[in-house]
Amino acid sequence: MKHIGYFTHSDCMIHDMGHMHPESPMRLQAIDTRLQAQGLMLDLTRFDAEPAELDLIERAHPHQYVHEIEQIGYDAINGDLIPVDGDTSMGPGSLRAALLAAGAGCQAVDRVMAGDIQRAFCATRPPGHHAEKALAMGFCLFNNVAVAALHAIEHHGLERVAIIDFDVHNGNGTVDIFKDDERVMVCSSFQHPFYPNRHFDTPGEHLVLTPINAGSDGLEFRKKVETDFFPALDQFKPELILISAGFDAHTEDPLGELNLVEDDYRWITTLINDIANRHSQSRIVSILEGGYHLGALGRSVCAHIEMMLHD
Ligand SMILES: [Zn+2]
Repeated sequence: MKHIGYFTHSDCMIHDMGHMHPESPMRLQAIDTRLQAQGLMLDLTRFDAEPAELDLIERAHPHQYVHEIEQIGYDAINGDLIPVDGDTSMGPGSLRAALLAAGAGCQAVDRVMAGDIQRAFCATRPPGHHAEKALAMGFCLFNNVAVAALHAIEHHGLERVAIIDFDVHNGNGTVDIFKDDERVMVCSSFQHPFYPNRHFDTPGEHLVLTPINAGSDGLEFRKKVETDFFPALDQFKPELILISAGFDAHTEDPLGELNLVEDDYRWITTLINDIANRHSQSRIVSILEGGYHLGALGRSVCAHIEMMLHD
């Protein structure tokens, strides 16, 4: 059994974009409940996430952008929701949650690099993979996985980090941040054409972008991902693997139109384990992105963590 850290914080639930918004605080509750019910929580080491220092976030985003988000966050502390883009807004708890979500990834990298744990799952929100260098969008404020990757490189001196993104939406923000940075390989599978319709064909040998037709099932998903991701990853030999773990490609998800099931998340996690075991001393840090059907989200996260654990 692998030693896995579970990074979360109750304040990630005070970020609330309105009771009709799919990116709801209940998502973390659903994950927690399911992990407890399956007895998996007992096998995880729990860490309270700590807020990221701004200079860690400024490795991925310009100072001016971070300052603007911070300012909107302060303006929202006593009042109503302030819109940041068409489907993203900040309320009283949003800045705190965003800093915790960015901080958790860095903390998880620190613990994994120190050898205290082998792998980690960050149950945090808001998600991050749509946040481009200087653009908040798609429920995302800071690009948590990008901040974690740059922490591994700049602070821990790694030369090659891979980010695997199996959310139903393309990780456009992550591609935007690393499009000219070959130290980070970004492998993203996504329904296409579909939101965000950005950075889906950005060129670069270190960018592995895998579009999948709406309505595809797990078989189609597996075929494409196996062909695209894993030979590229074997060649790249990442020293650390980060996962943008979105579960909205699940067939029950209300936003996505792919038809994955829990077993598909078991499958991809097992292949990621193999790459990690071959190249990165087993080190994996997985960070929550999307997943909007509460039941499917809880079950899929359990399937994912179970595979990382019993590898
Ligand atoms: Zn998504």
